[in-house]
Amino acid sequence: MTDKNIRVRLAPSPTGEPHIGTAYVALYNYLFAKKKGGTLILRIEDTDATRSKPEYEQTVFDSLRWMGLDWSEGPDVGGDYGPYRQSERKGIYAQYVDQILEAGHGFKCFCSPDELNEMREFQRSQGKPPRYSGRCLRLSAEEIKAREDAGDVPVIRMKIPTEGSCKFQDGVYGDVEIPWDAVDMQVIQKADGMPTYHMANIVDDHLMKISHVARGEEWVSSTPKHILLYQYLGWEAPEFIHLPLMRGADKSKLSKRKNPTSMSYYAGLGHLPEALANFLGLFFIQISEGDELMEMDELIERFEVEKMSKAGAIFDVQKLDWLNARWLREKLSPEEFLSRALTWAQENDKLKQGLLLAQSRIQTFAELPDLAGFLFKGDVGITAESFANIKKNPPEKCLEIIDAVRPALDEIDEWNRESIEDALRQAAEKLETKLGKLTPPLFVAVSGSSRSLPLFDAMVLLGRAMVRQRLVIASKVLHASLDAQADTAAE
Ligand code: GLU
Repeated sequence: MTDKNIRVRLAPSPTGEPHIGTAYVALYNYLFAKKKGGTLILRIEDTDATRSKPEYEQTVFDSLRWMGLDWSEGPDVGGDYGPYRQSERKGIYAQYVDQILEAGHGFKCFCSPDELNEMREFQRSQGKPPRYSGRCLRLSAEEIKAREDAGDVPVIRMKIPTEGSCKFQDGVYGDVEIPWDAVDMQVIQKADGMPTYHMANIVDDHLMKISHVARGEEWVSSTPKHILLYQYLGWEAPEFIHLPLMRGADKSKLSKRKNPTSMSYYAGLGHLPEALANFLGLFFIQISEGDELMEMDELIERFEVEKMSKAGAIFDVQKLDWLNARWLREKLSPEEFLSRALTWAQENDKLKQGLLLAQSRIQTFAELPDLAGFLFKGDVGITAESFANIKKNPPEKCLEIIDAVRPALDEIDEWNRESIEDALRQAAEKLETKLGKLTPPLFVAVSGSSRSLPLFDAMVLLGRAMVRQRLVIASKVLHASLDAQADTAAE
C-alpha cells in the first residue's frame, strides 16, 4: 500500500559525527514511512556554512545506510523536489522572506551584536529570559532608508503576536500551548542574505510537500515560530510529532563528553546494525517481555504512530549489549557469524593497517594479539597503575595532559595523522611543554599499555569516538586515584 500524501523527512545538519539521537529520529521516520506506505526524504540542512562539512554529510549517509535505512529522495539519490541540499537552494528562500516583509509580518533590524548583547544583559538583570526587545520595529520608513543609504545591511526578523498563545496538536504530546510572549522575534534572513534554519526549514518542508514533521523534542519551542511562518505565507502547516529526547541511563541529556554517542563508536565496538535498529525501534512499539528480538520487518509491522510514550527513551547500553548478544546467538548462522566478525575486524582496513604497524615491532606472530589487540577492544582495562611507569610524569601531570588533549581532539575537522599531530602539538604549546612529553600518558590511555603501536596511527585507526572514550576513562581512573590519595593524606 502506498500513500502518496504521506511524506516524511530526515533533516540532518552535517556538523558532526552522526549521533545515536539522529539514528533514533531517523528510524522513527523510516518506520513511519514504511508503515504508512509513504515516502522518506533526506534533506541536508547546511545553512550554517561555518559548521557544516561535506565529509560529515557522507558519514550521515553511510551511518544511516549501515543501520539498514534507505530513502527515496535525497541529495545522493535525486528526486522530483530537489535539490535536497539547502546550500544548493540559496536562490529559493529570498522571495518568501520578501513576501513576509511586504505583508508587514517581518521587519528590518539593524541592531549590532553589541547592542543585542546589551539588550540581553539588561533583560537578564531584570530576571527575564533574553530576547529581542523590538527596538527596530519602531524605525520609520525614512530612518530605515537612511540606514540603508549609509550602507548598513539589516537582518530580517519575523513579528510575533503580542498577546495570546500558539496552540497546536502534537502527535506525541497532544494539545500544546505556548504563550507568544515566550517566543522570540526570530531572525529569518541573515545580513548575508542567507535564510536561518527556521526559514529554510519551513520553506523546504512546504515545497517538498512534507505531511508530517517528526523530530526531536528540542524543537517543540521553535514550533510556534514555524506555525506562524506557515500562516504568514498562507500555507498549511504539516503535522508535528516531537519525539521525547533520548536520555542517558542517569536521565540526563546524552552528551558525548560523558558517554559515547556517535553511531561509529557502537559500530566500532562490534554492535550489529540490526541490533541497534532493534534496540531503537523498541522505543516506538509496545511489546511484552520476551518479545524483544525483532527484525526491521517486524518493527515496521508492529510500529504504531499513536503508541509512542512520552516517558522518554533511555539509552541503556547494557540493554543494547544484551540485545546484540541475542542477535549474535539467535539470529546469525555460524557462517554468517564468521563473515560478520571478519567484516567487522576489517572495517576501515583496521586489521590490515594494524598488522602492518606491528611488523617492525614483533619477533613472532604470537606477539600480535598483545600488541595490536587494543585496536579491537572496547575497554582496555586501564588502572592508575598503568600510568605508574611514565618517567617524569606523575599522575597529576598525566591527568592534566589527558584533560587538555580531549577538547583539542574534538576540534579537529578531518581525523587523520597530520591533524592529530597538529592538535597535540598545539595542546603541548598551551601546556608549555613538548610534544614528546604529551605522548607517553596518551599512549597508555589509548592502548592500555606502554608497549604498543605508533600512537598517531593507532589513533587514526581507532577513530575519534573510541579515542575520546578511552581518554574519558583514563581521566576518570586518574581522578579517582588522586582523590583517594588526597583522602588518605587528609586522614
Ligand atoms: N536540521 C535540524 C537538526 O539537525 C532539523 C530539525 C527538524 O527536523 O526540523 O536537528
